[in-house]
Amino acid sequence: MLILCCPTTGERIDGELPEIPEIETVRRQLEQCVQGRIIDTVMINREKSLNVAADNFIDTITGQQIIKVRRRAKQIILTLSNAHSLVVHFMLEGYVRIFYSWETVSGRPSVVFTLNSGDKMAFFKLTLGYIHLMPAVNFADIPELSGLGPEPLSPEFTPEEFLNLLSKRKGMIKPLLMDQAFLAGIGNVYSNETLFCSRIRPERKAAALTTTERINLYHCIRAILTRAIELGGVNEDKFASDDTLTGGFEPHLQVAYRTGLPCYVCRTSIETKRVGGRNAFYCPVCQR
Ligand SMILES: [Zn+2]
Repeated sequence: MLILCCPTTGERIDGELPEIPEIETVRRQLEQCVQGRIIDTVMINREKSLNVAADNFIDTITGQQIIKVRRRAKQIILTLSNAHSLVVHFMLEGYVRIFYSWETVSGRPSVVFTLNSGDKMAFFKLTLGYIHLMPAVNFADIPELSGLGPEPLSPEFTPEEFLNLLSKRKGMIKPLLMDQAFLAGIGNVYSNETLFCSRIRPERKAAALTTTERINLYHCIRAILTRAIELGGVNEDKFASDDTLTGGFEPHLQVAYRTGLPCYVCRTSIETKRVGGRNAFYCPVCQR
């Protein structure tokens, strides 16, 4: 979904899974565009992206209204009027695009829903990703959503809760932030950014962080995710032809994919190294 290049070398460094800001940006736009609409027809070009046979999928959802568009971690859940849900995971490359009634669907979508507005909701590149049909509406009854840690932007995720969760964990802080069972929806981009914000080196042991650092990290997680959502995240796949929101946070990245470029705070070159099997980006002066 997101492929960025190292600005200094022009080299492709990594492909990233979309995280909370990217998925929440999609969710909000879907909410505007498809919530309340009825699914008129369904076209399936890639049956492997589904968890049930195409006939069953089409029969179950055709004529149903999309009641609600929700998000949990990196997944989008479309709740239907027949008490079923469509659980969407984009994984690395997948994305959804709306084609308005006056537009023609271009490209090779995996699945296309035509809505009673005349708009088409087309899902692309669901090679690793999926759309699962589940006979449930409560998150607790959807297996795809089990084993996830708390949502960092939920009211229940308090500083006390974060301190409590951290107190039980060992290991390096950056991989821990990316652990979906620890905290839901954070990946490589925002673990780098929140650690820069809280001035913590990515390889530091969680157990060795001071209480002040832990509290700073908590506030940085909330602040950066909130700001990134407001600005549309760092996704490069546009949601619709008139989408000016998606990807607006990319110029605001402080360390991620800025290897060799000057730190905005101290002008020292941003460095990168492997931490927990992924690229960590950090300022060697600002982060301790
Ligand atoms: Zn710096």
